Amino acid sequence: MELQSILLPAMNAQRPIVIAGPCSAETEKQVMTTACDLSKKGVQVFRAGIWKPRTKPGGFEGVGTVGLPWLQRVKQETGMYVGTEVANKKHVFEAVKHDIDVLWLGARTSVNPFAVQEVAEALKISGFDGPVLIKNPVNPDIELWIGAIERIYNEGIRRIGVIHRGFSTYDKKLYRNMPSWHVPIELKRRIPNIPLFCDPSHIGGKRELIAPLCQQAMDLNYDGLIIESHCTPDEAWSDKEQQITPDVLSYILNMIVVRETNQTTENLVQLRQQIDEIDAELLSILTKRMRISREIGQYKKEHSMPVLQTARYSEILANRITEADKIGIGASFMSTIFEAIHEESIRQQIEILNK
Ligand code: PEP
Ligand code: MN
Repeated sequence: MELQSILLPAMNAQRPIVIAGPCSAETEKQVMTTACDLSKKGVQVFRAGIWKPRTKPGGFEGVGTVGLPWLQRVKQETGMYVGTEVANKKHVFEAVKHDIDVLWLGARTSVNPFAVQEVAEALKISGFDGPVLIKNPVNPDIELWIGAIERIYNEGIRRIGVIHRGFSTYDKKLYRNMPSWHVPIELKRRIPNIPLFCDPSHIGGKRELIAPLCQQAMDLNYDGLIIESHCTPDEAWSDKEQQITPDVLSYILNMIVVRETNQTTENLVQLRQQIDEIDAELLSILTKRMRISREIGQYKKEHSMPVLQTARYSEILANRITEADKIGIGASFMSTIFEAIHEESIRQQIEILNK
């Protein structure tokens, strides 16, 4: 994908790019107070939901179009850029008419190809040329996420970024939405140049998880953070448990450690060389193991023995886990590895059986 920078004129490119503001625009006063405080803390992009996708009807569904002039006032009075969520063509046209700078697709939109297509076409028709950020779909389906990105891209949008906001689960334990970090990591592997934001507010669902999640995102080299911040979080009309004051936000941003990206020192080069060598050894050992396993397969075939010998498999698994434990390797990691190796051995032995 040939993407263009999502940075707006005069925006500081320093990591992390921070987008902050309330879950929802509630009143003009709440918007202005929060925005002024955030601007003083150096935030460059203000977020506020105008249309809120609620799980059930009857809750606060956003103030709607009347809130858009409040965001225009934020731009005029603070100089911040402003962003909001769009979920259909009406939202896009209204937002563009009111000079909104950044638009994002929420998790309940990116899950729906019809809705994404509608938004993508409206973005094209309206000539919107600001950044469009695409949240992960509610379910951890990377193809669906990439599909949403492609729909937006195919309508000519080039300033695209993504937001990792976690994935829905039936049981809400520690997180409101499971982070499943491997999903955005794989997305970044597939589309390396796409800017990646973390939304610790919707992943954690609780104020106390914002700081550790921001730190983890920085350690994983995310480009930016989108964080919910409200002048009086306890009075928020939506998502009050996860919103923090601009003061707390600024404290967290000052506290997180941002490690610099590309400084490959001599030492690291040598260590990486060693890793490459060890991986080559691992490969050759695995090949050797598979060869012997195939010989065993041949023996089983000649002696009419079934491929799967459960007792032997249980013994291997238990024994390897005990040995690994002695040198400090965790049981679940070890069983994952040996289950995968065993599965492949069985597959190869069945292949021999059927020859
Ligand atoms: C939001 O950002 O306020 C929001 C509704 O998020 P999500 O789409 O991640 O649920
Ligand atoms: Mn929210």
